[in-house]
Amino acid sequence: MLMPSFSYVRIRSLKEATEHLSSNRARVHAGGTDLLGCLRDNIFEAKKVVSISGLKNLQGIEETKDGGLRIGALTTITEIAGSKKVRDRYPALAKAASEVASPQLRNQGTIGGNLCQKPRCWYYRGEFHCLRKGGSTCYAYQGENQFHCIFGSGGICYITHPSDTAPPLVAYQAPLRIVGSRGSRLLPIERLYVLPSQDVRRETVLKPNEILTEVLLPRQPKGVVSSYRKVRARQSWDFALAGVALALKLQENRVEKASIVLSGAAPIPWRSKEAEQTLTGNPLNTDTITRAVNAALKKAEPLEKNSYKIPLFKGMLEEELQAIAKR
Ligand SMILES: Cc1cc2nc3c(=O)[nH]c(=O)nc-3n(C[C@H](O)[C@H](O)[C@H](O)COP(=O)(O)OP(=O)(O)OC[C@H]3O[C@@H](n4cnc5c(N)ncnc54)[C@H](O)[C@@H]3O)c2cc1C
Ligand code: SF4
Repeated sequence: MLMPSFSYVRIRSLKEATEHLSSNRARVHAGGTDLLGCLRDNIFEAKKVVSISGLKNLQGIEETKDGGLRIGALTTITEIAGSKKVRDRYPALAKAASEVASPQLRNQGTIGGNLCQKPRCWYYRGEFHCLRKGGSTCYAYQGENQFHCIFGSGGICYITHPSDTAPPLVAYQAPLRIVGSRGSRLLPIERLYVLPSQDVRRETVLKPNEILTEVLLPRQPKGVVSSYRKVRARQSWDFALAGVALALKLQENRVEKASIVLSGAAPIPWRSKEAEQTLTGNPLNTDTITRAVNAALKKAEPLEKNSYKIPLFKGMLEEELQAIAKR
């Protein structure tokens, strides 16, 4: 398929970027690993592609004053996976980054692009004019829905959120800096994503002229244990069929605070508040773990071909919690 024509600009400042992005149908280009495929396959159009890759101040990982880390939006997935600071202090993020796609894509793809990438529903990525593209039907509902979601569809659209790095960032409760023509704001990552019931045409709340510039990882209190686990359909590179990011604050073996975020489960990184509530205040033992796992999946609404995800999530979550209990 031929790439449609568009103008291409490489900007030198964020101000210049937001000005270009304010024009009709302009798109941000970071590493291009998702954007260019979407344009080539006519998933959406762009009249102008605005490359931000020259913005040096959006690159790299540095300490923040509060003892956390600031990751610039143009930092590559490879750099995050390999960073000792990230591996030591935010192991769930380092693990998730190391499991994104292939080495080549991790070298080229950025954290900003990873968080803002488009979903992978094969109807959406194919030639189907489904609801998410402005059509009137969801083809997955009665079609090939084995890789689709079991939570959060609203009976509208059944995508699963594609990013591996988003669930651990939700578990760590990381704010994002967003810059637009009206200045800059901080947004908790959990509020970045949009459910189909809110707007089926959008995945994030970002306005067309807004850019995600940095991820701010807050310092984790003493006693926080975190992990990420991902199951793929194929052994090699692939998106998460099911995944779980955990951040538990433990006092002795008692859970003081829990963040449990499922990937491959819903159109957004899916926080299991039911499991979090079951764990909080209780000892991390087999009884609590069993109750938390059952609570996490109780409200699942599988489609015809993806009910296998329920035992898959249960097994993963149980193993991850048991591993933390035995650490
Ligand atoms: C074959 C293949 C396998 C993959 N497997 C996985 C996987 O297993 N796990 C996983 O998590 N991902 C996977 N991916 C997705 C890949 O990680 C993303 O394509 C990549 O991270 C996107 O980064 P990029 O810098 O190339 O983004 P781009 O392609 O440049 O941009 C992606 C989207 O985000 C927008 N965008 C980019 N940066 C910003 C910003 N700073 N602010 C606002 N909007 C922005 C763009 O406009 C575009 O819509 C896979 C991709 C491919 C092609
Ligand atoms: S699941 Fe969503 S993206 Fe996929 S066909 Fe249905 S409406 Fe379209």
